[in-house]
This record gives sequence, structure tokens and C-alpha cells, in this order.
Amino acid sequence: MSSHPLDSPSPGLATGPVRSVLVFCGSCSGADPRHAALAAEVGALLAARGVALVYGGGALGLMGECGRAAIAAGGRVEGVIPRFLKDWEVAEPLCDEMIVVDSLHSRKQLMFEHADAVLALPGGLGTLDELVEVLSWRNLRLHAKPVWLMGDGDFWQPFLALLDHVVTAGFAGPDTRTYVEWLPDTPALAAALSLP
Ligand code: AMP
Repeated sequence: MSSHPLDSPSPGLATGPVRSVLVFCGSCSGADPRHAALAAEVGALLAARGVALVYGGGALGLMGECGRAAIAAGGRVEGVIPRFLKDWEVAEPLCDEMIVVDSLHSRKQLMFEHADAVLALPGGLGTLDELVEVLSWRNLRLHAKPVWLMGDGDFWQPFLALLDHVVTAGFAGPDTRTYVEWLPDTPALAAALSLP
């Protein structure tokens, strides 16, 4: 039976250079047009930095904006999409690679394995599910990959406040807030990508 990286806890696992980023974001565009603009900026920045984009492969919403911007800027783009969502979320036809999997769980796991860091942009329940699971893996010391949040306005403030609340309530350790870093803008993302 093959082993899986998430089955082998590696506390203190060193992180190396970031060559690929897993972007979680909404499959729709949201109410604020700045979110779609940010998703496109992020896709273009990753491409300009030679950093591969790994994402859900959908052509709709922020996912579509981010993926198309990275493709247009000549970046490497890998989509991972469950078979049952290929039509519903419209698999982006221009990705360098589109991996079709059987479930949302396999998608999340595969995308995570294929990326050196995780970036969450504004999104809905799917985005939150993906983000929280990656943070819970971190809490269990299954990885030490950077997890970044970006969003215009105060999009992520309630989420960060919820993390603080869970810590204050004694259900998570004080380190929890260090598992995730909010980046204010794309220059901050560029700087984070430049770190070792
Ligand atoms: P949303 O943020 O709800 O627009 O969803 C963003 C992406 O997450 C979409 O591609 C959804 O298919 C995906 N998604 C939705 N629910 C889940 C889930 N429970 N686990 C993993 N991915 C999900």
C-alpha cells in the first residue's frame, strides 16, 4: 500500500522555496468587484514570478479570474476538479494540466500535495472548508506550509476574530493564529514568495 504524506506527521518540517501556490477562492465573484480584480492580480503575479498556480480548475468566479490571468501571463496552471463538478464549475480548458478526481476530498488532498504554500482569497463555504482543513492539518503537525490570506476590505477579519475566539475559549493553542498570515496586497505576496 502506498504511503501518503499526510499519514506521516513531520513536526518542524522545513519549508523550502515556494515554486507552486495552491489558491482557494470562490467559485462565484461575490458582491465586491475588488475581489475579482484581486484574484486576477494574484494569478498574474504568480505567473510573473514563475510560481505555478494549483487550484480547483473552475472557469467561474474568482477561480476563473485567477486561472485565466495566470494563463494569460504565461504561468503554469494546474487544475484539479472532481468529475461531478466538471460541467457545473466549467473546467478551464486552457490549463496546462487538468486532473480529474473522484471527490472533493481527493481534490483537496491532491492540490495540497502539489503546492508549496496555500493562499486563500475571498470565497464561500467551499473556500472556508478548504482553508480550515489545511489549518487543522497544520495544528496536527502534518505540515508546515505557509498559509496566507488575502482579501480586499475586511473580508477575512471575522474569520481571524473567530480563530482568536476559539483560542480564547481554550479550544486551540495560542500558536493557532501563527498558522495563518494575512497579506494586505500583492506586493506583500511578492515579498512572501521571495522568502526562502
Ligand atoms: P465556494 O467558496 O463555496 O465558491 O467553493 C470554492 C470551491 O470549493 C469550489 O470549487 C467548490 O467545489 C469547492 N468546495 C465546495 N465544498 C467543498 C468541500 N466540502 N470540500 C472541498 N471543496 C469544496
